[in-house]
Amino acid sequence: MFKSLAHTDFLDPFSFLILTGLLFIIVFLRYLFISGVFHFVFYRAFRNKFENRLINGHLKNKRQVISEIKWSSITSFLFAVSGTVMVILWQSGNTALYIEINEYPLWYLPISLAIALFLHETYYYWLHRWMHIPKVYRIMHKVHHDSVETTSLTSFSFHPLESVLQAIIIPLIVFLLPINIYVLLMILVLMTISGTLNHAGVELYPNNFHTHWLGKWLIGATHHDLHHKKFRCNYGLYFTFWDKWMGTESEDFQIEIKQKT
Ligand SMILES: [Zn+2]
Ligand SMILES: [Zn+2]
Repeated sequence: MFKSLAHTDFLDPFSFLILTGLLFIIVFLRYLFISGVFHFVFYRAFRNKFENRLINGHLKNKRQVISEIKWSSITSFLFAVSGTVMVILWQSGNTALYIEINEYPLWYLPISLAIALFLHETYYYWLHRWMHIPKVYRIMHKVHHDSVETTSLTSFSFHPLESVLQAIIIPLIVFLLPINIYVLLMILVLMTISGTLNHAGVELYPNNFHTHWLGKWLIGATHHDLHHKKFRCNYGLYFTFWDKWMGTESEDFQIEIKQKT
């Protein structure tokens, strides 16, 4: 599949539109599918059995649902454009993306994944803090915070300017860091799962996971929900380390997570 991609001229406007359209359908359907799974499988199961884990009411506010799907469709389109641009850059040999798994040693696969996630986390944490400067907030970040009671549909609900700033980091990483195509696909899947999990409106991590050696570094629904409710804390994307290092982790987190797990 990747080899046939290499031989199509995506600078041709028709091919550009076809690939962007296809990527849009994949990204948008993936968003709706994963949000649906979180809502109909996890949320409903937890609502019935573990009431203490609920954070928000789910999909009750129809106006919010419609608005989130609308903004998310635009985000999906912009992510699709970014994907097509990435394919064009790859075709012209301007990325460090590689297809053959043996081009670098196998141990490099998890290392490249860890570096890419660290770069993404660092970029997002500081971008996010910048977006909370009042003037910037009003223009590009308020749309995301209009969802005070987050649901799994909130995960892609961004203003287009924020979506563009979020989209450019992946081509930038691929430009700088040698990365296998399957590691890149794994990052895209992790991005979707993490975004949905953090906005799920229900705490899905196991009991006492926040004290686990790995769990304490991972952001979950309770952690990110505090960001939507209190604004000036918990800015992270996947991990808590920048919030811990910079002293921006909410003091209420430990109290809330103990009640929920
Ligand atoms: Zn959010
Ligand atoms: Zn924010």
